[in-house]
Order: sequence, then C-alpha cells, then structure tokens
Amino acid sequence: MKINCFWFRRDLRLIDNVGLYHALGAGLPVLPIFIFDKTILDKLPAQDARVSFIHRTLNELQVQLIELGSSLVVMYGTPSAVWEQLMERYDIHTIFTNKDYEPYAKTRDAAIQQLASSKGITFQTYKDQVIFEGLEVAKDDGTPYTVFTPYSKKWKKLANLETSKDSLQSFPSELRLRSFINLSPQAIPTLESMNFDNSFLPIPERTVKQSLIKKYDETRNFPAQLGTSRLGIHFRFGTISIREKARKADELNETFLNELIWRDFYAMILGNFPHVAQQAFRKEYDTIEWENNEAHFKRWCEGTTGYPIVDAGMRELNTTGFMHNRVRMITASFLTKHLLIDWRWGEAYFAEKLLDFDLASNNGGWQWAAGSGTDAAPYFRIFNPQAQQEKFDKNFEYIKKWVPEYKSATYPKPIVEHTLAREKCLATYKSALAKGKA
Ligand code: FAD
Repeated sequence: MKINCFWFRRDLRLIDNVGLYHALGAGLPVLPIFIFDKTILDKLPAQDARVSFIHRTLNELQVQLIELGSSLVVMYGTPSAVWEQLMERYDIHTIFTNKDYEPYAKTRDAAIQQLASSKGITFQTYKDQVIFEGLEVAKDDGTPYTVFTPYSKKWKKLANLETSKDSLQSFPSELRLRSFINLSPQAIPTLESMNFDNSFLPIPERTVKQSLIKKYDETRNFPAQLGTSRLGIHFRFGTISIREKARKADELNETFLNELIWRDFYAMILGNFPHVAQQAFRKEYDTIEWENNEAHFKRWCEGTTGYPIVDAGMRELNTTGFMHNRVRMITASFLTKHLLIDWRWGEAYFAEKLLDFDLASNNGGWQWAAGSGTDAAPYFRIFNPQAQQEKFDKNFEYIKKWVPEYKSATYPKPIVEHTLAREKCLATYKSALAKGKA
C-alpha cells in the first residue's frame, strides 16, 4: 500500500501543524514518524530534561494516535539510517515535514531529500516554526534587515496585509486526524535504552493566563515575579503553535508580540548570516583578546561570583533550566564584559542548561550582550550589576530566593571589582576594534 509519512521534529503537536495539515490532506494514509537522532543525543549528558520532555510528549501523542487506531513510529538512530530502513519497509510516496532552520538540520534535511529523491520519493517541507522565514521580511532592496526595529515594523505591516494573511492563519490539522494510517501500537524506545535518565525537572504549563499577557509590558522585567509566559520550551519543541500565540499577542499586548517578533528576527539572522553560529556577527569583534580565566568561568557557572544578581540567575538556571530574560542579559554581560570570557563559552553553557534552548535566540542574546551582534548595545555600555539589582530586584526578593546566604559571612567577596573590570573591558574592546578596523 502506498503511504505518505509525516516526520515530527520541532512541532510535537496534532493541532494547527502546517506540514501535518498538508500530509493529512494529500489523499494517502499517513504514517507519523519521530526519530531520536543519535547525532544530537550522543552529545548530551545522560540527565537532560529536554530529552525527558520530548519522550513524555511523544507518549502523550501516542495515546491520542492509538485512540485514532494509528500509532507513532519512534525510531532511534541516525536519520539517514532510519529513513533507509523505513524506505525498505514501506512504499512511501511523499515525506512531509516542517522546516528547521538550524545549520545541522539544514544539512540533515538536504541529505534526506537526496536519499528520498534517489528512490523516487518526494520530500515536501513547510514553514511552521516561525511566522516569516528567510527573506519574507526584507528591506525594500530585498536584502535582510540587521536591525530589529525596522524589521519589526515591516513584520507587522506584512502580517496585517490581506495577501499574507496565511502567516497568522491556523492550519487545522486536528480536523483531519482520520487520515492517519491504521496501525497497531508501536513501542517507543525507553529513555534507558538510549542511555538517558528520566529527569523530573518541572516543565512550565503550555497555557498562559490572558491576564498575564495583558500586563506583560509592566511585569516582564522583574525576575521575582511570574511576569513572563514561560512558554519558551513549548515554542522550542512546537508543543504550541506560534501562529495562535502571535494572534493572541496581536490582540492583547504589543510588547509581548514584539518578543515573538524577536524570535523570528533571530531565526532570520541565523538563516541569512549562518557565520553567527561560530563567529561574531560583526567580524571586527572576533579580534577581542578574551581572558578566558577558567577559575572565573567556574565561579560564574556555579553562581559564586559575589555579585548576587548574577549568582541568583546562574543558580536559577542550574536548578530549574530557566533564567529570567532580564537576568540572562545581566549574567551574559557580566561574563563577557566584567570577566572578559568569550561569549561562546557562555552560549555553550546556556545551550546545555536552558530548557528553552534555541540556537538562533541564544546566539542572538549572547552576541547582543557581548556587543558583537545585530542591534548590539554599544560596547561601552556595560551593565552595572548593582544598578540592575536596584532597578529590577529592589527588595532582594529574587536574590533571597536563590542566594539565601547573601549578606552572611559565607557569601563570597566579588571576584572582580566593578570599576576596574569596567575599565579593563573598555580598554580591551577599544584596542581590538582599533585593530579590527585597521
Ligand atoms: P516571554 O518573555 O514570555 O516571551 C515569550 C516568547 O517570546 C519566549 O518564550 C520566546 O520564544 C520569545 N522571546 C522573548 N524574548 C526573546 C528574545 N530576546 N529573543 C528571542 N526570542 C524571545 N530565548 C530562547 O527561546 N532560547 C534561548 O536559548 C535563549 N537564550 C538567550 C540567551 C541570552 C543571553 C539572552 C539575553 C536571551 C535569550 N533568550 C532565549 C531570549 C529570552 O531570554 C527568552 O526567550 C525568555 O526569557 C524565555 O522566557 P519566557 O518564555 O517566559 O518568555
């Protein structure tokens, strides 16, 4: 029997899923596939809450698919080897999937597309993860924007145009679920069989109160409050639809909508300037001579720098897999500017720990903090951690939660002195940029 396949990746939901919507409407029974990709998993520690989250989400999808008389087929291996096997086992007409814009994913998909086409199978991809991709939001001369504000204005203009209404429209895949293939329940590989432990880190809800979004612009900067959506992990793995949330944001709060546009913006930057994954967006910043003191890096990672707002942020991250955006900015600025440690070290640490880790947004955030990215704050604007605390945690609520020994004899002295660190940073950046321009 000829079938179509739908390959789930960063879109783990049956509702409003563009690629799935098209697969289920294409006239052949649809076999749903998920691959635990060894290439990615082999680089992760055994305790990775994101892998547990994916595993749990697949089990939830499985319950729904079994109720429909179908089953998810979950495989463990490299995508090429898995697809070779599936192509042997089934008579596949088309593989449907949603696009992924990260460099590894693009290479992977190009390889699978080639494999499919060598066997006469079509490989069909859709935009689902972002509202606008590639050069859909571009300057009038067709080149990519590199500054957020004009990009966001164009984004909003396009989103409201009749001709591009698709961008926010839903694709009700949930109305076509009867088109899944009839299949007896297939076992999902256990976490243990893939060398992972089950992590019990709590995962934020995938829903958010309207009242929170309505007040988002007032509450979003205060880390002691639950004033942001905590939806990051759900955007990351597609357990919610970006179109649905963007429509809500458009109705409820423009500041919240802007944050969703930042997400599109950084995905667009990574797609159009892939060098950012390894190098500074502004090349002259690659000449900075980082100090890269390993003992300082360790103190930053464990949250014992003697700067309480920095330490609170790092401990929140280490304990929960989340760090508030304001504190991400403070800790990243502290690492790159006060400690003169290469932003790539911090980026890699966040990548390992953040539940909502997303290459494009993480890279964008780090390059912004280091001064080397798009829209970057000029390098001579250096966050003063104490001033940030006075403004955003003035009653020490966040600090007391995460650094209970603050103000006691056991709390460490600052590892660097603010004024001296600031001067050293300015001198280091200035000389590097002078060299970079020469
Ligand atoms: P909310 O404030 O409720 O915002 C809603 C959603 O908008 C977020 O879930 C996210 O998808 C998007 N968003 C918000 N702010 C940004 C932003 N500045 N850039 C891009 N998208 C944004 N975000 C990630 O999703 N993954 C990362 O790995 C990541 N790393 C970061 C590293 C640094 C150094 C910095 C400064 C920021 C980083 N961010 C990252 C952006 C931001 O901090 C998080 O998206 C946000 O804190 C997640 O919390 P929330 O879900 O409550 O967000």
